[in-house]
Amino acid sequence: MHRHVEEIFALVTRRNPGEPEFLQAVEEVFGSLDPVVERHPWIFTSGVIERLAEPERQILFRVPWVDDSGTVQVNRGFRVEYNSALGPYKGGLRFHPSVNLGIIKFLGFEQIFKNSLTGLGIGGGKGGSDFDPRGRSEGEVMRFCQSFMTELYRHIGPSTDVPAGDIGVGGREIGFLFGQYRRIVGRHETGVLTGKGLDWGGSLARKEATGYGAVFFAREQLRRLGLTFEGRRVTISGSGNVAIYAAEKVFQLGGFVQAVSDSSGYVVDDDGIDLALLRQVKEVERGRLASYASRRASARLVTGGSIWDLPASVALPCATQNELSGSAAASLIGSGLRVVAEGANMPCTPEAVAAFLEAGVSFAPGKAANAGGVATSALEMQQNASRSCWTFAQTEARLEEIMVGIHDQCLATAEEYGSPGNYIVGANIAGLLKVARAMAEQGIV
Ligand code: GLU
Repeated sequence: MHRHVEEIFALVTRRNPGEPEFLQAVEEVFGSLDPVVERHPWIFTSGVIERLAEPERQILFRVPWVDDSGTVQVNRGFRVEYNSALGPYKGGLRFHPSVNLGIIKFLGFEQIFKNSLTGLGIGGGKGGSDFDPRGRSEGEVMRFCQSFMTELYRHIGPSTDVPAGDIGVGGREIGFLFGQYRRIVGRHETGVLTGKGLDWGGSLARKEATGYGAVFFAREQLRRLGLTFEGRRVTISGSGNVAIYAAEKVFQLGGFVQAVSDSSGYVVDDDGIDLALLRQVKEVERGRLASYASRRASARLVTGGSIWDLPASVALPCATQNELSGSAAASLIGSGLRVVAEGANMPCTPEAVAAFLEAGVSFAPGKAANAGGVATSALEMQQNASRSCWTFAQTEARLEEIMVGIHDQCLATAEEYGSPGNYIVGANIAGLLKVARAMAEQGIV
């Protein structure tokens, strides 16, 4: 790391104790910057790195609600409005018991560069709550969402900050959040949230976009190696929105999805994952993978070990941060792994990433490979602003074009800055340069 960047990182470390994921995300980006700051000294003189080390605004609030037994529950709500140089803050809301300020800051930080890479004029933000939706009734989820929005509404708007979904926040939650926003402000401001229902401003292909986008990206990685998905063995961790639609696209491209996972274990299906059943269990019943395994003769649930113990040619980690460790990477490499594309945000630990690079595995970081979700959210904003509605094919074609564009931009930038084939360097530098130019041109704010 350049000495000046190192000093800033030391300050970030001192200022943000107890936030390891945030520090991990910052260190990963700062570690790529040497060739950029040498070539562009204005980045230092305009204080870009110092300013990126600190979110523009961090909002913390109490979310009180009453559960079905009449007991008062109190959760903590967050919205980190990290950077608005390129456009309104944009990024999802995560409802999960592991959520704390450090997690939201790491996600908001990543979002800045991811959103920049899409080329679509969106700033970076993230939010959420430590609310655990699992086991909660529909009524409880609705009341929680209404209480959450009763505070959040004053901070967001179509030109200010546009939240969407993430872990624990899907179409149902976006519906409850939008309803409460509309009720409070007394206006039907369609563009305030993305991931909406298709009858009230949602975009076709938004639900599929993160998973499809990650697979388009992996297809380009394979293409660069002279390979395709045809007949290839693919492991996808997770079984939520990203994993389900990544699997769908892998099948469409002729690949074989052998396994998916959730927090109870993983399921291996000798006939390939049955998507209709997976969607029934996860999207309709909101159940566990044991239920999938019990209804399918070719499948078994494995509760010990890790999904990454399975030999795979392509790995798509689509569950959560730091789910793929250094030892998991070693076993994947030993089994002939060729390509990794992160569908989740920062699912591979730094040790895993180092092992992949060392072994010559093609590795795409989440901020590039999973940008399809937020990119399609920006397409939803475009449709809302023009009160139009694109077809599925039109939207998917734009998504594909954007993902191929990000892939090529990463490679071209990596090459230009002396690390050919390194998608991490390419994504960090290409993502940063656009934000940095905007920050420099807009003055010290
Ligand atoms: N939560 C998604 C992400 O990590 C999507 C955000 C959005 O659509 O605003 O990029």
